[in-house]
Amino acid sequence: MTRPEHDPLASCRDLFVGADSSLVYFDGNSLGRPLRASGPRLARFVEEEWGGRLIRGWDERWMELPQVIGDDLGRVVLGAAPGQTTIGDSTTVLLYKLMRAAVAARPARTEIVIDRDNFPTDRYVAAGIAEECGLTLRWIDVDPAAGVTPELLYAAVGPATALVVLSHVAYRSAWLADAPALTQIAHDAGALVLWDLCHSAGSVPLALDEWGVDLAVGCTYKYLNGGPGSPAFCYVAAEHLGSLTQPIQGWLGSVDPFLMGPSYAPAAGIRRFISGTPPVLGMLPVQDMVALIESVGIEAVREKSVALTSYAVEVGESVLGPLGVVLASPRDADRRGGHVTFNHPLMREVTAALWERDVIPDYRDPGGLRLGLSPLSTSYDEVEHGIGLVREALVGLG
Ligand SMILES: *Cc1c(COP(=O)(O)O)cnc(C)c1O
Repeated sequence: MTRPEHDPLASCRDLFVGADSSLVYFDGNSLGRPLRASGPRLARFVEEEWGGRLIRGWDERWMELPQVIGDDLGRVVLGAAPGQTTIGDSTTVLLYKLMRAAVAARPARTEIVIDRDNFPTDRYVAAGIAEECGLTLRWIDVDPAAGVTPELLYAAVGPATALVVLSHVAYRSAWLADAPALTQIAHDAGALVLWDLCHSAGSVPLALDEWGVDLAVGCTYKYLNGGPGSPAFCYVAAEHLGSLTQPIQGWLGSVDPFLMGPSYAPAAGIRRFISGTPPVLGMLPVQDMVALIESVGIEAVREKSVALTSYAVEVGESVLGPLGVVLASPRDADRRGGHVTFNHPLMREVTAALWERDVIPDYRDPGGLRLGLSPLSTSYDEVEHGIGLVREALVGLG
């Protein structure tokens, strides 16, 4: 089996809590492991900033923190110049805010284009907005082992399209969409485009500014290791910041929150996409992961990710293929994100049996075993050992 002879990022694994145990973790794409640096960072914050500065902390640092961390994320992970990214809310809530902002900016148009295999929350939020605003959803049907291609999108957009909502890496298949080409197709039709980056931010290089992306959202608890429920981020391209407004008109997104004035007027810049008090504690660990990614470089992260998923495809097909398991992710590494899915009718039961044995993949209908290979915290040994245990579990159930 082909492993690279030298893995320059191998030592990064030791920076994560729990990486020294024998547990096999294939779910860093659902909840990243904590970095060892994050515990002390949180403890210091409680002692020194929260405990020491008390309410003065808001004026001194905390109010700006979503934009400060957003700019770091923009520079290191998103390919976004400063002033276009902020942190707060959940991905779901930010999807709502940005989709509403986008359809309001295309008032004469009546359709939102989205694919049937997009993540449930994206589809549900789009459906709710369609109902709320009297719009129609135009569905793209995709191969569940692949994703949205330029041809499929081209056929779906037109003069009625207000907004196109796409995932950059498909949560089920790991299909890596051709973001620059798809963005261009949406723009040629006069539509705005909103990218969901949950499964790509921190594992696949992004160039939002260069690609001309209008809007993007993503979570920070997957490849950005922010921890359970850590807040999401949103990106709004500079050209739209003067005109787009969002529907949850809270005081902290208003021009002068402490004026406590009679009515809402949106702040200039990205702060207008904030609604209420920033979730400061939840965003601190993201700083540790962004710093780590910056120190090794996102291109090196992607290189390791491609090598890991290629290795998993190779080992998986050779070890599990004879048992009737089939690859349900792109074989072409250029079209594949950071996880690999294998299908078999017994994978639900296999996953349950493996969790009992401290081997943690996850299961996605229909029959998909998803191996999330977080590039900086997963080893080649873990992949080989884990897939061997998948085989044992399948044989045991068969
Ligand atoms: C994980 C994920 C989400 C999660 O949304 P939350 O609001 O954080 O629960 C949304 N979209 C995609 C594509 C995801 O992978």
